Amino acid sequence: MENKLNIEKLRLEIDKIDSDLVSLLTKRKEISNELIKNKLLQYLPVLDSNREEAIIDRFLNSSLDLNPTFIRKFFHLIFEDAKRQYYKLEELTDIKSYLERKPIMIAGPCVVESEFQINEIAESLAGIGVKFLRGGSFKPRTSPNTFQGLGDLGVKYLYNAARANNMFTVTEILEAEQLARNYDFIDIVQIGSRSMTSYGLLKSVGAMTAKDKKTVLLKRGLSATLSEFLQAAEYILQAGNPNVILCLRGIRTFEQIESTLRFTPDLASILELKEKTNLPILFDPSHSVGRSDFIIDVSNAALQLGADGLIVETHFKPCESKVDAKQAITPQQLLNILSL
Ligand code: PEP
Ligand code: MN
Repeated sequence: MENKLNIEKLRLEIDKIDSDLVSLLTKRKEISNELIKNKLLQYLPVLDSNREEAIIDRFLNSSLDLNPTFIRKFFHLIFEDAKRQYYKLEELTDIKSYLERKPIMIAGPCVVESEFQINEIAESLAGIGVKFLRGGSFKPRTSPNTFQGLGDLGVKYLYNAARANNMFTVTEILEAEQLARNYDFIDIVQIGSRSMTSYGLLKSVGAMTAKDKKTVLLKRGLSATLSEFLQAAEYILQAGNPNVILCLRGIRTFEQIESTLRFTPDLASILELKEKTNLPILFDPSHSVGRSDFIIDVSNAALQLGADGLIVETHFKPCESKVDAKQAITPQQLLNILSL
């Protein structure tokens, strides 16, 4: 009899704790939603992996009588729920599943020009099913006297525009420091053609992304052989990050002496690369041809040849584009690409 009473008493105590837990979790969620809103207003990253780790570490380091795996899992569930709740991120939290859906379509302006510009284009691209938003903020310009991009601020504009439309960000970095400062804003790290042989950068990006296996989009050097291209990718793979996407973007040949094409589209390299590697292969029609009127045909050809996806420069008013105006197409034109 005594024992039975004791069990009931203990159960009542547990019920009380469970109610407290649920109301505390509800309160926590309200505060975290408020925090996310404030971060957005101040262009701060919503996802802050360092802070998440610090929260967990605080409890792991205190001598609680709880299993460390339990603590880790428990907090991860809470963090995921907080993010999902606010952004309706159910699908977005898993970039991998989107990268598995072929063709991968990355679209957006050559350069992030303003908050308005990137928001407008993101909304329109999301409306036609594009999940990956590109936009440069650290531009590798031939002349130092031309617009170089908005830097860190541009990455924040890109990130907010993407998240507001349930999209992922793709942006180029020229230096490891730029990635370190903007790590949580960038879903896919682009290494441009001009940096393909910057082996120090490849090593740094490999080391930085190995911890969470963030996807790296590596573009073929302007005049790199396929073997040089694949060896450049090896730098990232060997650093411990298997998530490398290769991107063909046209190569420099004698054709450019007279041709109106910006580069020579290396379309058949799709076939050859497929023989040599299992890494996904994207094609960039925009920089390959440099002319908006050829983009659709070249894109469709690349897909026919087996490219896993495309990266296409897209602008609302192509002729007003601050960089690469001649090759930009509108979201409406993008709809003419197969399987969009
Ligand atoms: C870009 O995609 O913005 C770009 C600069 O391309 P690439 O490195 O291929 O010239
Ligand atoms: Mn461009």
